[in-house]
Amino acid sequence: MSFEKLGLVSELTSAVSELGYTKATPVQKRVIPLILDGKDVMATAQTGTGKTAAYALPILQLLSKKDTKQKTEKVVRALILVPTRELAAQVEKSIETYGKNFALKSCAIYGGVKFTPQTKKLSRGIDILIATPGRLLEHIKQENLNLSKVEILVFDESDRILDMGFWEEVEILSSMIPKKRQTLLFSVEQSKSVKRFSKLTVIKPVKIVINNQGDLAKKVRQTIYICDQDKKTALLSYMIGSRNWNQVLVFTKTRQRADEVGAYLEASGLKTLILHGEKAHSKRTKALRDFKAGTIRVLVATDIASRGLDIEDLPHVINYELPGDAGDYIHRIGRTGRAGNEGEAISLVCKEERSILKDIERLLKYALKVEFFEGYEPKEWLKKEANKHTIKAKIERDQKKRSTTANSVVGMRKKKATIKKRKQNKKAK
Ligand code: AMP
Repeated sequence: MSFEKLGLVSELTSAVSELGYTKATPVQKRVIPLILDGKDVMATAQTGTGKTAAYALPILQLLSKKDTKQKTEKVVRALILVPTRELAAQVEKSIETYGKNFALKSCAIYGGVKFTPQTKKLSRGIDILIATPGRLLEHIKQENLNLSKVEILVFDESDRILDMGFWEEVEILSSMIPKKRQTLLFSVEQSKSVKRFSKLTVIKPVKIVINNQGDLAKKVRQTIYICDQDKKTALLSYMIGSRNWNQVLVFTKTRQRADEVGAYLEASGLKTLILHGEKAHSKRTKALRDFKAGTIRVLVATDIASRGLDIEDLPHVINYELPGDAGDYIHRIGRTGRAGNEGEAISLVCKEERSILKDIERLLKYALKVEFFEGYEPKEWLKKEANKHTIKAKIERDQKKRSTTANSVVGMRKKKATIKKRKQNKKAK
């Protein structure tokens, strides 16, 4: 379906067509008309499905219709809450691009960067503010912004916001925003906490579920390589090098492991950067920028990058370790195979991770292809194989022996029979 048919104005349809969007994605088809109609929406959709445009385009249209000149200092008209800095920056960029034909002001505020430039921007009033809950509350405490005029409130990846322990912050924020507003609640999964949260935030929402997670992940070619934990780093480096991959996102479970793996890859000659929560914001931004630009081959990251990271045509995602939570597997591999492109996700799985692999398969509702990488087969398997070979060889040897014995017995019998016959013949003569 074209964007015009969804009721979007030409300023927006031309902006998306310049980006090469020819038709609306399923979430956009369902959500855009509802938002334009002023409805509260509760939608379950992954990143990678075009959900940012699904809410950003109608919000831009709704806000552009009203007089923006009446804006007073520090006022915010639409507030988009997101869980991470990365997602905040990503959404801000999308809104700027989609809204380039309007004179609406947008900005993103998040932690890890200086306060003052954000305060300055807020002081002039903002049409669309994208924010992480923590930094937003800090600004509110300092009276740097006024939420009493918010017309539209969006929770993007609300499940992640709640998982990160922002319940209280979000409750406080919601209470500061007028009850008479439009609320859009997006989540990646349908969790109990999101349902509970929806009771506090949305009013008679239209509920939309886009694709089950397994279907989404099917777009990505997934392979599991069973190997030993202590061989993973060598295998990883060999795989990237020997297959000549140039843009690989590697996930580890912990920051420490990300540092170790990153250092190993760099030392083995692969240009690598590391992205995790302990890195300064400037370093995180640089790592992402360089990775997107293709100046580094490998980005080793913790789950901080499993959401909100949109890199066009990212061809390879490797799980150095499986995540602790099965849902995070889907988010991680969702970094490839985006917007209809093909993608490949590889997971290095050791013996201790087999139960989480089962959880993942349960969530996907299908079994994953399991293979061994030649030269990196796990010791246990090699031992079994060797045993199998030894047993096979023994059986063959025994069989050979038996048949030789049998042959010699038959031979002996034949010989005896011939001698007997000869003796009988002699007697007869
Ligand atoms: P999102 O789910 O918002 O993170 O979007 C994922 C990717 O899909 C982004 O790179 C968008 O630019 C792209 N995208 C969004 N909508 C469309 C569309 N209708 N056609 C093609 N690509 C799109």
